[in-house]
Amino acid sequence: TTQAPLLKVERMVTGYGDLRVVRDVSFEVRAGRLTVLLGRNGAGKTTTLRAVSGLNKLAGGSITFDGEPIDKRSVADRVRMGMSYVQEGKRVLHAQTIEENLLLGGRIRKVRRAVLHEEIERIYSLFPILKEKRSLPAGSMSGGQQQMLAIGSALMAKPRLLLLDEPSGGLAPVVVKEVMQRVAELKETGIGIVLVEQAVEASVAIADDVVVVDMGRNVLAGPAASVDLEDLKRAYFGAP
Ligand code: ATP
Repeated sequence: TTQAPLLKVERMVTGYGDLRVVRDVSFEVRAGRLTVLLGRNGAGKTTTLRAVSGLNKLAGGSITFDGEPIDKRSVADRVRMGMSYVQEGKRVLHAQTIEENLLLGGRIRKVRRAVLHEEIERIYSLFPILKEKRSLPAGSMSGGQQQMLAIGSALMAKPRLLLLDEPSGGLAPVVVKEVMQRVAELKETGIGIVLVEQAVEASVAIADDVVVVDMGRNVLAGPAASVDLEDLKRAYFGAP
């Protein structure tokens, strides 16, 4: 399409203090599309998301959101601009109900409770299981359901861009498929998604674009439809 990218990361360099763990990473995401970042443990995927969200500072390269350079913007500014980040292993509040968790997710918006309740209804239509269990403590749900609640809470901020770090973490394969299916459906709401995953097949299946990162560098990038799964697994994940 001719539509400008929502997020554009160019030749990003970042890390922790003087330690550079991301040395040359580039990718884009358009509205209603999903880009998956794959790579071994320690490749620099989480650090890439942290830098996009503003938690890590850039040592080189650039990040633009909606055409505007944002690498000097604070985390809070980026949230206000429409970015929402679900960190790896993000926990929901176990003792609070599902609905209370969702309300907390919307807290950063200075809007009336009635508006938040409209938003909650929209999230219930995306994740019907959350509606069914709305009055139960979040800790009573399964891991997959809690992951959906974590995503739902992030959506309460009404983001245009969702950064998702390993939503499949610790889930059984059949549950991973279901979470991925729900994530794929989110694209239809028009938001752009950056997904970091270890579950290669399940995530490539819902992706529009695939980026493989190794040692903090792009080693493969292209449309998901053009990526050969077997090649990808052999080259980067040590499959036989
Ligand atoms: P994983 O799937 O294991 O999270 P990843 O691709 O997301 O892997 P990162 O978490 O970005 O990788 O880590 C990249 C490198 O940065 C690793 O070598 C890691 O040890 C290092 N690292 C991560 N967090 C810190 C930190 N807070 N301080 C210093 N080094 C860190």
